[in-house]
Parts: sequence; structure tokens; C-alpha cells
Amino acid sequence: MLRVEMKMLEVFHVKHKNLGPVFSIANQKGGVGKTTTSINLAASLSAFDKRVLVLDLDPQGNTTSGLGVDKDTVKVGMYELLSRGEDLQEAIMETGCEGLYLVPATIDLSGAEVELVNLNAREKILRTCLQNYDGEPFDYVIIDCPPALNMLTINALTASDRVLVTLQTEFYAMEGLSQLMDTIRRVRANLNEHLEIEGILLTMVDRRNNLSSQVEKDVREYFGAQVYEAVVPRNVRLSEAPSYGLPVMYHDLRSKGAQAYFQVAQEMMQRESIAV
Ligand code: ADP
Ligand code: MG
Repeated sequence: MLRVEMKMLEVFHVKHKNLGPVFSIANQKGGVGKTTTSINLAASLSAFDKRVLVLDLDPQGNTTSGLGVDKDTVKVGMYELLSRGEDLQEAIMETGCEGLYLVPATIDLSGAEVELVNLNAREKILRTCLQNYDGEPFDYVIIDCPPALNMLTINALTASDRVLVTLQTEFYAMEGLSQLMDTIRRVRANLNEHLEIEGILLTMVDRRNNLSSQVEKDVREYFGAQVYEAVVPRNVRLSEAPSYGLPVMYHDLRSKGAQAYFQVAQEMMQRESIAV
């Protein structure tokens, strides 16, 4: 009986010890709201009293600076985890927000991308790193992926339970999606059978704009319930908050952007409780 229950648990989680579900925020296109979503979804979850760990897997380190961490002060970050075998625990930094923690990225990480290509089990390095973690538990892990279907993104997907795809509601929104879905399918077939598509999140939505509305309609028709009901509107507070090193709700709690990400977090927690 116990074995059956264990098996059922395995179905739903990659099951990293001490770590709740791991979500990759992915899309190989740049500028579609991955980083904005990683920061503000994570901060919203922590505002709902969850302990959240964000992994910045983009060498540009925009999540790192957006959470107020000075990259010049980083001693152990994502690069050292992937290329030097450092412990996750050594790399976790506090942010200015209660319950929200970060593994930072610096430009060194672009080197890891190259170094990983020559390693054995190179796709599983991040997963192994998370599996070995036995520090303070986290309720959620959010991975901000780089804008490429490269070895870093493959590592993220291999370590994840779910992938949340951000789509900017513009003319070419769905371009490249089939390639992303193929990659997800290949990771599921060869590296991580637990990987599920969490959903699609529409970002930079402007419902006064006909094109944005049409794209939203098309995406909802095509992907149905996979698309989050909550959408993220285009909101200037979201684009200016990173320059203060703050998630949007700490910059302007009443802004539409802050309210939108609270809704996204609630929908995520709801979907989670339905799935389990
Ligand atoms: P990605 O990580 O996919 O490259 P970002 O989250 O960095 O995308 O977003 C790209 C740019 O658009 C950034 O300058 C960001 O501040 C801005 N941006 C993202 N989402 C919104 C939004 N909902 N409203 C206004 N600006 C946004
Ligand atoms: Mg980004």
C-alpha cells in the first residue's frame, strides 16, 4: 500500500528532498516576460507566506539585479553550481523580501553553457544539484530560463515538475512555440518523465488594442484550459520596478501589474491543489 502511495507521489513530483514543486518559466524568445514573471510570481507566492527560491538561469542576470542583488558581490552563483559542483546551500542569497531567496546569475554563466556540452550527464547537473539539497525547505522553486533552447534550458526542464510558458500577445506570439513544445516532449521522453506543462501565461496584454485581443482569443481557442485565466497587462510599474531592485508589489502595491501577479500566483496555487 505504502509503495502505491509513494508511486502516486512520484507521478506528481520530481521530488527533490526539501523542495516543493519546481517550475521553469520558459520561452526561447527574448522579451516575452519570463524574467518579469519569475520575479513577480515568486514575490507574490512569498507574499502568500510561501518560502520561495528563485534560480536565475539567464547569464544576463536580470532576475538577479531585479531582486536587488549586486552581481559584483556574488561569490557563489548558478555558474559555480553547474560548473564547479558547489552546493546549492552555498549559493542561496536572501533578498529584500521576506520568504524570497535567490541563486544569482552572473555573466560567467554563459561559460557554463559551453562547458556543460562536454560533460557526462550534462543535462542532469541542475537536477542532481537540487536533489542533493538538504537545507531549509522551500515551498516553491522558480527557474528563470534564458532566451534559448540551450543546455541551460534543458537542465532547467530536466530538473522541473512543470513548465510555465510566457507569451507576449503580439503578432508573432505563437511563432517558435512548436519548437518549444517539441523540446518539452523530448525532455519528457528521454530525461524527465515527470515534466508537465503548467500552462501558458499571457503577458503585456492590452485589451484596448485589437491585435492584442485577437492574439489572446486565438491562443485561448488553440490551447484551451492550458492558458491561465489571469493575464498580465502592459503596465509601466512592471517595467520600472527592476531599476529599484524590487518586485512590483514592493514598488507600487496598487498597480495593475502587482494585482495581476497576485492573481497569477493564486491561480498557480489553485492548480497545484487540484493536481495533488
Ligand atoms: P524576458 O525575460 O522573456 O526576456 P522580460 O521579463 O525581461 O522578458 O521583459 C522584457 C521587457 O519588457 C523588460 O524591459 C520588462 O521590464 C518589460 N515588461 C515585461 N512585462 C511587462 C508588462 N507586463 N508591462 C510592461 N512592461 C513589461
Ligand atoms: Mg529574461
